[in-house]
Amino acid sequence: MTHPHEAIVYDVQRFSIHDGPGIRTTVFFKGCALACAWCQNPEALHVGPELTYDAERCLEGCTNCIDVCAVGALGAEPAGRVDFARCTACGDCVDPCPTGALRVIGRSWSVPELLPVLLRDQSFYAQSGGGVTFSGGEPVLQSRFLLELLPQLRQVGVHVAIETCGAYPFSLLEPLLDEIDLVLFDVKVIDSRRHERFTERDNENILENLAELVRRGVCVEARMPVIPGWNTDTENLEATATRLRELGLPSLTLLPYNHFWEAKLPRLGTDRKPLGIRTPDDDFYRGLRKELERNGLETRL
Ligand code: SF4
Ligand code: SF4
Repeated sequence: MTHPHEAIVYDVQRFSIHDGPGIRTTVFFKGCALACAWCQNPEALHVGPELTYDAERCLEGCTNCIDVCAVGALGAEPAGRVDFARCTACGDCVDPCPTGALRVIGRSWSVPELLPVLLRDQSFYAQSGGGVTFSGGEPVLQSRFLLELLPQLRQVGVHVAIETCGAYPFSLLEPLLDEIDLVLFDVKVIDSRRHERFTERDNENILENLAELVRRGVCVEARMPVIPGWNTDTENLEATATRLRELGLPSLTLLPYNHFWEAKLPRLGTDRKPLGIRTPDDDFYRGLRKELERNGLETRL
């Protein structure tokens, strides 16, 4: 269990250019309330640190890690080496591994530890109109941590954005709003039952949260992760355009699909399956934009 002012972060990416305006540092938290079938960051779904194992990097004949594990989660066979159900992600096996086949994703960060890392590129933020973006996983689930951190960023004039799936009680987000400049809000599928099928949760609370943000005059950018064949049909595009127009949101940013997440699955203790969707070409996106624009929405890619 983390201290209220600590959070499990699995990556801090400097010089990001796809997570809001300008040059940014993006902080990736672990833990999400949704479980989208296409999640690009499957290593972020579970809230705690987790072990990953890359069988391709495992050395034949090496047994360095096996005796180290106090809970017997490491077996002799390279395939299926890790019993993820037993593993506590203690990390004791990571150092003895000579090849980096074993790695723990995510560790606890305190606010005083993270703040200087985020301020390191302040001059680039200032020159480019950038700042810091909190992503994940779902950053709003780390509300108490952010409540301590964000005022310190704002105090020195750093632009703050969050990337959110919107699936939480509004009371978690509300106290943060004065400290956030931009909310990048994912709108995945409008039909609630379909949303539940794809993400394991319906979207009623999500769309209510989006509406509440707009009502309060928060700067919101609606974004749709494009999942070819899952949310790119005419019915969903029309429904998305209608809903966003009703809310007074004039535009939608399309987040292009890539399948790189599928390569991560064998390294994680997950039963998620690849979707086998091919990365679409430019014509596909042109078609999507045309259809959305025909329905009265501006689009960005
Ligand atoms: S992280 Fe810890 S519990 Fe998990 S396999 Fe390694 S030593 Fe065992
Ligand atoms: S220590 Fe690393 S290389 Fe050696 S058996 Fe374990 S996972 Fe494989």
